[in-house]
Amino acid sequence: MKYISTRGGCPATDFRGALMGGLAPDGGLYVPDVWPTLPQGFSPKTYIDTAEAVLSLFMDGFIDKPTLRTLLEKAYASFDVPEVAPLRKLDENLSVLELFHGPTIAFKDVALQLLGRLFDYELRKTGQKITILGATSGDTGSAAIEGCRHAQGAEIYILYPHERPSEVQRRQMTTVNAPNVHAVAVEGNFDDCQAIVKQLFADAAFRSSQNLSAVNSINWARIAAQVVYYVHTAYSYPQGVNFIVPTGNFGNVYAAYVAKKLGAPIRKLVVASNRNDILTRFFESGRMQKSEVEPSLSPSMDIQVSSNFERVLFDALGRDPEALKTCMADFTKQGSYNVPQKAFDVLLDIFTGIRCDDDDTLAAIACTQRDYGYTIDPHTAVAFHAYHEFKDSLEGPVVALACAHPAKFPDAVQKATGKRPPLPEALADLYERPEHFTVIPNSAEAVKKLILG
Ligand SMILES: *Cc1c(COP(=O)(O)O)cnc(C)c1O
Repeated sequence: MKYISTRGGCPATDFRGALMGGLAPDGGLYVPDVWPTLPQGFSPKTYIDTAEAVLSLFMDGFIDKPTLRTLLEKAYASFDVPEVAPLRKLDENLSVLELFHGPTIAFKDVALQLLGRLFDYELRKTGQKITILGATSGDTGSAAIEGCRHAQGAEIYILYPHERPSEVQRRQMTTVNAPNVHAVAVEGNFDDCQAIVKQLFADAAFRSSQNLSAVNSINWARIAAQVVYYVHTAYSYPQGVNFIVPTGNFGNVYAAYVAKKLGAPIRKLVVASNRNDILTRFFESGRMQKSEVEPSLSPSMDIQVSSNFERVLFDALGRDPEALKTCMADFTKQGSYNVPQKAFDVLLDIFTGIRCDDDDTLAAIACTQRDYGYTIDPHTAVAFHAYHEFKDSLEGPVVALACAHPAKFPDAVQKATGKRPPLPEALADLYERPEHFTVIPNSAEAVKKLILG
């Protein structure tokens, strides 16, 4: 299998190229040139079995199956349950997929525990060094640090918006005392951090001199790792299942779309946003229109530029890079673009959007606690709010994604339920650990200087 750029301006590459490069050199995102499909009668047993089957579809010629399996077993041994992503039934129609059993208690561990090991596998083979550069609204940073800190020859720089992540999120990034880990607080918002990363990746000389690699969900390998839990879950519903996905950068819900493309029995995908509702407005109108990022109770979704949307738009536009580039150029120039009706119809066939403000979020946490005796975090609450709004219009069973452990966002949970959720054992001394981070101005130059030392 080859990977092509959504913007059609650079040669196709293989899995290795997509893994190590992250963003395509023309500024586009890598996608498989054709969608593979799961075998007829696919019936996975364990999570690792599913992971091996799904990932080998994407990793052609990169790694042999036994080695892949060993990496998978090591990656998911860091989770505190053997199922990796347990599915918990709340009532006849509704289940919740718990994705927060990894070391940093948010779903990004699922991809980043594997990504770090893939980097390590490749770097040991070649003896190369890389600079991992990522932007985070909170959860990617700590998950990337935990996943990649032991990769041989990797220097890690994580940019986060100064004073925006929750204290738990910040401490998970800043309390790792390792010489190759750099937590960088940028005086801006998440979109600013993401723009700096994109700008540095677009700087060809800097990119190649530093061997820059991406850990954001623009990295195809991250998407591939997330496809696994959708496939694994969907095959336990042979009649088809709907997923409700709390969304920011569109990475997680894009992985669900890929699982559907592979042939997994998936019906609708509900794209659940917080007050930063650019995607909701898009699914209402066919027009992507940027506005200001506003802080919310679900900070990992405080995003106005959902990078991975470019990948699904590419498909909806019939994989026409010229049409895609027109949209992206309009978005850069005037902060908006319109999608042709035909492409919009393709998208509406699969996706539905919904928004949830902070009051809805608190109400969803409170009523999930009351109705099911189950505590959810404010991101998961956005999905539960969507469930209450949509349960009569969705056909078939529904799985809501629980993307973070409630203890990662204790203030919101306490506000809604009156109880402060305790941190899991492994993180119990987090508030006592010393912090290390650098505050820098909102500029790509400042980040470049820091990396160059
Ligand atoms: C990252 C994150 C999201 C958003 O996921 P995307 O892949 O960016 O759409 C939602 N909830 C939590 C807890 C997250 O960490």
